[in-house]
Amino acid sequence: MFPPERILMGPGPSDVPPAVLQAQAQPLLGHLDPAFTPVLERIAEGLRTVFRTANPVTFAVSATGMAGMEAAVVNLVEPGDDVVVGVAGVFGARMAEVARRAGATVHTVEAPWGRIVDPEAFVAAVQRHRPRMAGLVHAETSTGVHQPVAEIGAALADTDTLLVLDTVTSLAGADVRVDDWGVDVAYSATQKCLSVPPGLAPITFSEQAVQRVRDRATPVQSWYLDLTGLLGYLDAQGGRTYHHTAPISALYGLAAGLDLVADEGLDARLARHQRLGAMLHEGLEALGLELLAQPGHRLPQLTTVALPDGVDEAALRSRLLAEHGIEVGAGLGDFAGRAWRIGLMGRSCTEGNVRLLLAALERLLGEAAATAGARP
Ligand SMILES: *Cc1c(COP(=O)(O)O)cnc(C)c1O
Repeated sequence: MFPPERILMGPGPSDVPPAVLQAQAQPLLGHLDPAFTPVLERIAEGLRTVFRTANPVTFAVSATGMAGMEAAVVNLVEPGDDVVVGVAGVFGARMAEVARRAGATVHTVEAPWGRIVDPEAFVAAVQRHRPRMAGLVHAETSTGVHQPVAEIGAALADTDTLLVLDTVTSLAGADVRVDDWGVDVAYSATQKCLSVPPGLAPITFSEQAVQRVRDRATPVQSWYLDLTGLLGYLDAQGGRTYHHTAPISALYGLAAGLDLVADEGLDARLARHQRLGAMLHEGLEALGLELLAQPGHRLPQLTTVALPDGVDEAALRSRLLAEHGIEVGAGLGDFAGRAWRIGLMGRSCTEGNVRLLLAALERLLGEAAATAGARP
């Protein structure tokens, strides 16, 4: 068990700080031990800070980001409900599929790869279908697009439609304002801008969302993700009861990761991502490469970039990993085979990493061009 050293600049996981790894190596407590309660409370408090919410029901689901997505959807949706989902990439499409499997009639509002979901079209679809739930991806990791949410949230405020927001790639790397935007359920994952190993899905439920779960006519079809059962463990006042064994070491790591966010300051952390994302974007364009996300809506922490025609992206990516130890992600969907996804998330988001990647890319592209030019 001696894995090679890497610089993780893909779509997640990101590099993990030593303090988080050390926290995960601490001796176990029983998950019902009173000494564990402060750890859970610190996590809830830290998550409320990064989600910018006062929601009491804020915790980490014991599984990766996809479980956060499933938990949001299966708790809110009952068979036969109408649901509107914005689809502009892989993760929006997944949310629509999760809702379909929960028995919803799903109406998608689509956008081409690399573009935002048009807020007006999204609100119009909500007004037309009056759905029980409307879902959006804030940071679409497959396209690098930063979806505007505030005006959509405001338009849905006085409706019965609950707004679900995927903040897996945005949380702690771009501003997420759950309360200001009127988001009812937001979920995330630990391994992106929080820089904690994968395995937990931070999530927050508004009071209306909790009430919706309590008022259901049918049971949540997932026993494991049913909020009503989970609340029995989370509620310290009620005396914690066993639901499933909490992943104690992973939660230690999340607590330490949230402490690091507090030490840096959330605003400073967001500004760091903004500044270094812009530096990466400028550097890639200076190499003559095309950014694929719509200008004005580019994520700093996840950049999609097209490689020059004729360059074998997979071969170049393998060389970047083998010769420089840098991992980046392959393009997905419409961008497969011609683009990369470069992450600058949390601990991986440093000026040194931006410079290393740009220098390595310049070298590899130069060699690829020389080889192509040498061909008869
Ligand atoms: C990574 C990601 C997910 C899925 O998270 P996992 O931890 O891989 O399950 C969901 N939504 C978005 C936007 C993501 O980037």
